[in-house]
Amino acid sequence: MSIVVTFLGGAREVTGSCILVRTPGARFLVDCGMFQGGGESDPKNARPFPVPPSSVDFILSTHAHLDHTGLLPRIVLDGFRGPVYATPATADLMGVMLPDSGHIQEREAEWQTRRALRAGRGDGRPLYTEADALAVIPRLKLVPYRETIAPAPGITARFLDAGHILGSAIVSVTVRDGGREKVLVFTGDLGHRGLPIVRDPAPVEKADVLVMESTYGNRVHKGMTETVEEFLHALTDTLQRKGGNVIIPAFAVGRTQDILYLLSDLTRKGRVKGLTLYIDSPLAAQATQITLRHPECFDEEARQVLAWRESHPDALRVVVTARTEESMALNSLRGGAIILAGSGMCEAGRIKHHLKHNLWRKESSVVIVGFQAEGTLGRKIVDGARWVRVLGEDIAVAADVYTIGGLSAHADRDDLLSWAGNFRAPPGRVFVAHGEESVSLGFAQELRNRFRWNAEVPDPGQPMDV
Ligand SMILES: [Zn+2]
Ligand SMILES: [Zn+2]
Repeated sequence: MSIVVTFLGGAREVTGSCILVRTPGARFLVDCGMFQGGGESDPKNARPFPVPPSSVDFILSTHAHLDHTGLLPRIVLDGFRGPVYATPATADLMGVMLPDSGHIQEREAEWQTRRALRAGRGDGRPLYTEADALAVIPRLKLVPYRETIAPAPGITARFLDAGHILGSAIVSVTVRDGGREKVLVFTGDLGHRGLPIVRDPAPVEKADVLVMESTYGNRVHKGMTETVEEFLHALTDTLQRKGGNVIIPAFAVGRTQDILYLLSDLTRKGRVKGLTLYIDSPLAAQATQITLRHPECFDEEARQVLAWRESHPDALRVVVTARTEESMALNSLRGGAIILAGSGMCEAGRIKHHLKHNLWRKESSVVIVGFQAEGTLGRKIVDGARWVRVLGEDIAVAADVYTIGGLSAHADRDDLLSWAGNFRAPPGRVFVAHGEESVSLGFAQELRNRFRWNAEVPDPGQPMDV
């Protein structure tokens, strides 16, 4: 049975996850993500699909992060008319994240148009608009975890816990043709074990073809207990000893809710008192509401902490700043505030203002809790730059910078290997994806050495008969 797999993105790089699968009976995508960070992203996002979008039968979405969903509006705009399957929580998150992304595209296009006109060139068009993004929503088909769907003749699929963010899933696809059967497993993004709120990644025991993420395939995070202590130290040292602010760049979905959860838990245990968390992102606030509506995704501890929070609403002050003026008012806070804002890699959004007002102050701290891709402002800060360019100004970096890897939503090398250890027999073929090239190559080597797996790093755009 001939099955051809092509990585359209997320191969030898972290963003742009999109895998085209051609089976004897159907053609489908796993994810349709946007390229982010770095100068190559814009042209890659704008390039035409290698096959007519109208010829794709359906799409399976592993989770709501834009590097997995951000080009859905584009493919719909270009003629895709099939269903997009996702877990109910993922679908709800997409409902706010995709229109927000469209809104950002429109604003950027406006800005570029003004620049282009000043330079005597034509106008820039947005990749897609908010309205284009809204056109994805009616295509969403909800699939609860572990339920089997049959999206096309001869194909069934199941979504399993990936433990990465709310609603995130490993997708297992079975293809049948003339009495033969092949199982294709796509991990999407796998979570760090013990991550707040969500359950750990579900074990998988067999696959003919496995696509595995490798974001942190070269790193080992600290365990959750040690991570929480690190986080607590950053908070108390900044807020109490130095009297500054704690700035946390965070993805609206995932880290924001994890931080809220951890602060609630630390307050519940009496380790901190009277904290104020500013969630300076309307999107993050919406995602938090959505999280609370999906207790079916929670682990046991999350149920307890969130129940406690409901009965002690004043123990931890949470201020959501919706309007721009409210956000600007935070610029005058000299100390005592924990400010969470996007974007997660400091490339856009309100976080830039908070960095501008706090990076140069040695009393303040920046707490990095998520992955920072090469070329992003966040990466420069993590790598110890003494000066960075923020909103057109050179800003000195005098604030303490804490990188708390254990709060990353991604599995580390040991998590990945331990998940791989669940397989009862080596998968027929293993593609290591979603990682910087050197990291993916190293991790594929690790899989070959340790498990004798037939692991390789795919080339983007290269059709492979599996
Ligand atoms: Zn993700
Ligand atoms: Zn991802």
